[in-house]
Amino acid sequence: MNSASDIKILILDDDTFMLKLLVKMLAKLGYTDVITCDNGSDALKKLEHTDTTPDLILLDLNMPDMDGIEFVRHLVEYDYHGKLILVSGEDERMLRSAEKLVHAHKIPMLGYVHKPVDPSKLSEMLHRWETHVLANPASISKKTYSVDDVRTAITRQELVNYYQPKVSVANGDVIGVETLVRWHHPQDGIITPDRFIHIAEKHKLIDDLTQAVLTQAVVQAGKWHREGQALRVSINVTMDNLASLDFQDKIFNLVSENNLPPQKIVIEITESQVMGPDARVPLEILTRLRLKRFHLSIDDFGTGHSSLAQLRDIPFNELKIDQGFVHRAWEDDTLRAIYDASLTMGKQLGMDIVAEGVEDRNDWELLRETGCDMAQGNFVSLPFPAEELPRWMTEWKKRFQAGL
Ligand code: C2E
Ligand code: CA
Ligand code: CA
Repeated sequence: MNSASDIKILILDDDTFMLKLLVKMLAKLGYTDVITCDNGSDALKKLEHTDTTPDLILLDLNMPDMDGIEFVRHLVEYDYHGKLILVSGEDERMLRSAEKLVHAHKIPMLGYVHKPVDPSKLSEMLHRWETHVLANPASISKKTYSVDDVRTAITRQELVNYYQPKVSVANGDVIGVETLVRWHHPQDGIITPDRFIHIAEKHKLIDDLTQAVLTQAVVQAGKWHREGQALRVSINVTMDNLASLDFQDKIFNLVSENNLPPQKIVIEITESQVMGPDARVPLEILTRLRLKRFHLSIDDFGTGHSSLAQLRDIPFNELKIDQGFVHRAWEDDTLRAIYDASLTMGKQLGMDIVAEGVEDRNDWELLRETGCDMAQGNFVSLPFPAEELPRWMTEWKKRFQAGL
C-alpha cells in the first residue's frame, strides 16, 4: 500500500449519474481502483470475493430497494472491516442519526458528505484517512482473522495491555487508566481490538480473552500501587463474561493475591449489549462486585437502547459519555443536548462522569465549563504500554501547569 491508487473503493448509489460523477471526482484525487453498484444486493456480492472487497465504501442512504441503513446491517453480517462514508441529500440531523447507527454497529466511518458533493470536503476527508493509512499499513490490511488465529493469540500470550489515562478536569490529577487490549501479531504488527474482539465474542473465547487481560491488568495495578501510584485500573467486561458465577471468584482471588483494594478496580460494562433473557446472573454478579467495593462503570453511555433501564437496575459508580457525544459537542447542538443530558443524569444519580473521546482543546474546555469530572481521549494521551506511564505523567504535569 503506497498510494491512493492502491486503495479499493466501492460506490453504492441508485443514481447512475451520481456514480459517474463520484468516479470522476475520485479519479482526479488519484483513486483509480473504484467499482460502482446501483443496488445493495450487487454490492453485497462484491464483498464475498476477496479480490473485490473494498477498503472504503461510499454509501448513499436513500435507495429504493435496500436502503443505506439496511445495507449497513448486512455489512455487519459480512464482517466488513473497511471504512464507510455516507453520501446523502438528507439534512444534517438525519445524517447525524444515520452516523450514530453506523457507529452503534461498530463500523468505522470517515464521515458524511451532503449531496451535491463538495469535492474539497471529500478530498479533505480522504486525505486525512490516507495519511493515517499510509502511516499504519496494518490498519488497512484486509486480512480478517479466524477463530483459530484468535485462540492462538490468547494461548501464546500475544495479547498485550495498553493503558489510557483518565484525568481530573478540575485539577489535572491522574485518577486512573483504562486497559485497552492490543494484539502483538508476529507478522502483522499491533492489531486493535475492533479486529478481533467480535470474533472472540462470537466463538466463546471472550472469557479466556478477558481472563488474560484482567490478570495482566491486576498484576500491573499491584505493581503501580507498590510504586506509590494508587491508580484506578479499568477493565472492559462484556455481558457474556457475566454469564457465569466463576467470574466474580476469579476477580476476587486475583485482587487479593495482588494486595489491591477492590475500589481501585473499575469494571466497564458496555450498555449496548442488551441483557439476555435471564438477567439474574449478571445482576447478581454486579451487585456482589459492588458489595465488595469494586467500582462499576457504564460504558459508551447514550449509544444503546437500554441505558436508562440499566441505570435503574445496576448500582454503577461511574458513567462514561460515549465519544460520539463528546468530541465537537461544543459546536453541535444535537451532540450538546445529549452530552448535557447524560452529564446531568449521571450527576443526579451521584456517579462520577467521564467524557471519552476528548480530542482537542475545545472539547476539554467544554468539560471544564460544564463541570465534568474526568476526561479521557487523545488530547490527554493515546493509549500506551505500561512502562511509558512515568514518562507520560511527568509530561502531563508540565502541560497541565502550563495551561495545557
Ligand atoms: P472503548 O471501551 O469505548 O474504548 C475507547 C476506545 O476509543 C479505544 O479504542 C481508544 O483507543 C479510543 N479512543 C480513545 N481516545 C480517543 C479519542 O480521543 N478519539 C477517538 N476517536 N478514539 C479514542 P480501542 O483501544 O481500539 O478499543 C475499542 C473498543 O474495544 C473499546 O472501546 C472496547 O469496547 C473494546 N475493548 C478494548 N479492550 C478490550 C478488552 O480487554 N476486552 C473487551 N471485552 N473489550 C475491549
Ligand atoms: Ca471502555
Ligand atoms: Ca467507551
